[in-house]
Amino acid sequence: MERKNAWLTYDEFDKQALESLCAGYRRFLDNGKTERECVAESIELAKKYGYVDLRDVTVLRPGDRVYMSYMDKTIALFQLGTEPLSEGMNILCAHIDSPRLDVKQNPLYEDSELAFLDTHYYGGIKKYQWVTIPMAIHGVVCMKDGTKVEVIIGEKETDPVVGISDLLIHLASEQMGKKANVVIEGEQLDVIVGSKPANEEKDAVKAGILSILKETYDMDEEDFLSAELEIVPAGKTREFGLDRSMILGYGQDDRVCAYTSLISFLETIGPERTACCLLVDKEEIGSVGATGMRSHFFENAVAELLNAAGCYSELNVRRCLASSAMLSSDVSAGFDPNFASAFEKKNAAFLGRGMAFNKFTGSGGKGGSNDANAEFIAEVRHIMDEAGVNWQTAELGKVDVGGGGTIAFIAALYGMNVIDSGVPVLSMHAPWEITSKADIYEAKKAYDAFLKRV
Ligand code: MN
Ligand code: MN
Repeated sequence: MERKNAWLTYDEFDKQALESLCAGYRRFLDNGKTERECVAESIELAKKYGYVDLRDVTVLRPGDRVYMSYMDKTIALFQLGTEPLSEGMNILCAHIDSPRLDVKQNPLYEDSELAFLDTHYYGGIKKYQWVTIPMAIHGVVCMKDGTKVEVIIGEKETDPVVGISDLLIHLASEQMGKKANVVIEGEQLDVIVGSKPANEEKDAVKAGILSILKETYDMDEEDFLSAELEIVPAGKTREFGLDRSMILGYGQDDRVCAYTSLISFLETIGPERTACCLLVDKEEIGSVGATGMRSHFFENAVAELLNAAGCYSELNVRRCLASSAMLSSDVSAGFDPNFASAFEKKNAAFLGRGMAFNKFTGSGGKGGSNDANAEFIAEVRHIMDEAGVNWQTAELGKVDVGGGGTIAFIAALYGMNVIDSGVPVLSMHAPWEITSKADIYEAKKAYDAFLKRV
């Protein structure tokens, strides 16, 4: 049951559509390096397609286009179908948070005439991968008076970058003998931000940094207490491979599925069943918090939608959610011949073979997984084959090697049919992740087909 490489199926139209989709995707990645930036970017795109804030709408009719964001970190978008909402929606869901280093509450210190920002990593990372690369600072600083300053340092050609040092190889014999998870430890992920003393006093390098922050952002040291600053790899995405068949970029887990879901959704016109695109935060730390998938945000948004559509009742909200179907997208592990022993080749996702569907995720005995119903998978197979989508099925890796959870099981709590799906990635969770343009194109095609589901 080996699947064909998608590139072999393309004509000129496909090749052009693929390149234009990937160009838009690269812009989305470059402009969206945090969940907040991704929500802002999504709203900007949605407005171009005529979407308006659900909070500004009192009456909704079929064909109407609305969105609802929450705390600037998660967003649900809807296009009302002609079928009653109580018969459910077709939902595309993906997450827009990515592994990174978060700046601590009390971060700034000076040691040996170097100034540092202390960080606490977010999500699963191999800590040793995050040293000696150029990094940027993205985020917000919220002031006591209610004002909010947006920060992006390190992305413009003329911006300075920051970063974390590593021990020189000449003195590293002890370090090189350590296990990889302690070669660099969490408390060593401190970012160097300065080295120039502002005066002859003690901690004058730190004082210099503070005066730059004051000048640029009118911020005091105390304002770090109410800031969300994320340290991420600096620089833009690139085409990858001599044949330009891949994309190298930060945060492709899971913005690759988020962007393709969003574009497919936005291009939808006049669906029978109501179409929904849900982009959530906090997946990488367990879908917690008010903006993660475990939050009631989505349920509340659906209740508001039904209310505006004139059919709200608690029973209708429950019927709507239980009758919905979802492609819960998240990236898959792409088979890597360099690490073949971690994979079971018959059930692995391969770069270039298209959209990957995972009946289940989880670890060990499918622990923590949504296990999609065979009946629903049969329907999805039918939809994908009818639409000529290149697709494959996969597990994350060998059964006992590891695992990981996604958001599918949380959506399934409502009783809806949901299956994990997504784009295969090489070097997942590394500062720079690799995807295939063909898989990005096939994911978009898969979403297009799913949103036409009746
Ligand atoms: Mn992840
Ligand atoms: Mn993910």
